[in-house]
Amino acid sequence: MNAFAYVTAQTPESAVQLVRQDGRFLAGGMDLLGELKESLATPKTLVNVKALPGTNDLRTTGTMWTIGANVTLAMLAANSEVRRALPGLATAALEVGSPQIRNVGTVGGNLAQHSRCWYYRHRDIECRKKGGTACFARQGESKYHSLFTGSMCISPLMSNLAIAFAALDARVVVQRGRKPETLTLADLYASAWKTPAAHNSLRPDDLILRVEVPIASDRRSAYLQVAEKSDFDWAIVSCAAAAKVNGSTLRATRLVLGAIAPIPWQADAANAFLEGKNVTTETAERAADLLLRDARPFGDNAYKLPIAKALVRRTLMQLVV
Ligand SMILES: Cc1cc2nc3c(=O)[nH]c(=O)nc-3n(C[C@H](O)[C@H](O)[C@H](O)COP(=O)(O)OP(=O)(O)OC[C@H]3O[C@@H](n4cnc5c(N)ncnc54)[C@H](O)[C@@H]3O)c2cc1C
Ligand code: SF4
Repeated sequence: MNAFAYVTAQTPESAVQLVRQDGRFLAGGMDLLGELKESLATPKTLVNVKALPGTNDLRTTGTMWTIGANVTLAMLAANSEVRRALPGLATAALEVGSPQIRNVGTVGGNLAQHSRCWYYRHRDIECRKKGGTACFARQGESKYHSLFTGSMCISPLMSNLAIAFAALDARVVVQRGRKPETLTLADLYASAWKTPAAHNSLRPDDLILRVEVPIASDRRSAYLQVAEKSDFDWAIVSCAAAAKVNGSTLRATRLVLGAIAPIPWQADAANAFLEGKNVTTETAERAADLLLRDARPFGDNAYKLPIAKALVRRTLMQLVV
């Protein structure tokens, strides 16, 4: 591991200034410390952002949930109001890793975590994500990789929270230079769709401040995932859904799949199809087909397709029970 300076930022503006000295933001360190140990990241400065005012807030007004970037996954999963009002989000947080990881990992760090592709995580492999010329997963081991991509990199987005927040139409407030800017979840990951080297659309000095979730009456949400291990593991496929529910009829549905694309995977056609529909096995399967239309499995990951279909069906069913 290289030597680095360690500083604690007291304001968002100073955090942004400090990180410009070849630095990286440090929150819980669950992802970044691994990258440092493997020499995947060699910053000169680590900017601790845990002391920034307001970033531990988890509160609601009449119209909006505000979730600070340094709220831990454990706080999110355990908060009784979040569990009641945003069960899909609470479940997504609860499904992350293990209790130890959830106690330390933060909302900001979860959204900004880097690729888990095993070629990327190998210190000696220079793949496209590290500026090399080849994607080794395409011809190699692609079991955990994407079914959709817009670039030569097939590493999927692994953040549970990104999938749940996308279903809730959340906005991510980012300190960009001197002023805060608001990004949709689609904005936050758009660059990862088209640029192999990008994990997300954040610039190196973009600081996530908070996530805002609009409160919508009659809205229910759900999140389910399939992983190889029940703990200490990432999802093979995840699914989040949110909708206004009347009986078993859905309105304004947002159906999102995770771990199958470098972005939270949504299809307008699937959301539109579900408008005004009752949740039945047939409607859920049709929505899944629309969502997975044009999926392109690689050598080892076609098995994700039936899992994704089953997850869509079960997640939609959860909205109406
Ligand atoms: C064994 C294991 C299993 C896991 N399983 C899952 C899982 O199932 N699902 C899942 O979603 N995640 C999983 N994770 C990932 C884990 O959730 C993240 O590593 C953790 O949430 C990162 O949060 P952190 O606060 O520790 O971030 P850090 O490690 O401190 O930072 C992570 C990245 O985010 C950047 N960053 C941190 N804060 C900010 C900010 N405010 N603004 C901008 N950039 C920022 C850092 O510079 C770094 O690049 C797992 C991790 C491990 C080790
Ligand atoms: S999928 Fe992406 S991260 Fe993995 S080897 Fe290919 S280019 Fe690298």
